Amino acid sequence: MHGIKLKNIYTNFNNDFIKIYPSWLGKFLYCKYSFYLENVKGIKVPSTQAMLDGTNSHKEKENVFLEEAVEGTWEEFFDSNELVISREVSLGSSIDDIQLNGIIDEIAVDKNGIYIIDDKPSAVPYPGIKLQIYAYCLLIKSIFPSINKPIYSVIRKIDKPDEIWKELYESSQENDVRTALRSLKNILLGNKIPEKIKEENKCRKCRLKSVCMNE
Ligand code: SF4
Repeated sequence: MHGIKLKNIYTNFNNDFIKIYPSWLGKFLYCKYSFYLENVKGIKVPSTQAMLDGTNSHKEKENVFLEEAVEGTWEEFFDSNELVISREVSLGSSIDDIQLNGIIDEIAVDKNGIYIIDDKPSAVPYPGIKLQIYAYCLLIKSIFPSINKPIYSVIRKIDKPDEIWKELYESSQENDVRTALRSLKNILLGNKIPEKIKEENKCRKCRLKSVCMNE
């Protein structure tokens, strides 16, 4: 395996479209109201220790990758039959009146496919994380429509090399993420105020609970 440093890629950039980041889909699915508080009402709350640890782990992995990586083109990367990887890949495109921009933790390619990998602190493949990776897959397919290898969504626990979840990206996953992006866009545009959820388990762990419960 070797590392390839890829150029950031932004196509069909449209500044008039609302900007959405795939990483928002995790918190959006956790509780749409918490997403509304943070991203529409602009409520600021401090990052948790787990979030800070996650940022540090990503940085460490990127530094290791950069020590060995060589520059390469997207075409040779996708065409590779040997296992190659790239990390912290920044890309964006306008899709369905949305400017979708994201940074993919890792993309791996071998002769059998393209693997869009997200490193998470938890070993649980939460639905919101799956949607986040589908959004990256949607971006890859939109920017590179002639890709002829299957694309897989993959979740890894950040401190372990093994995959904890892997799934072929197909039309049903694309429909799911397009639907979620439309719903998220409506909330951002103020067309819809989401309801608070009534799930004690989630609310207990929520970073915004003191704001939400004192409204
Ligand atoms: S406390 Fe519960 S309802 Fe309120 S924002 Fe947090 S998760 Fe959502």
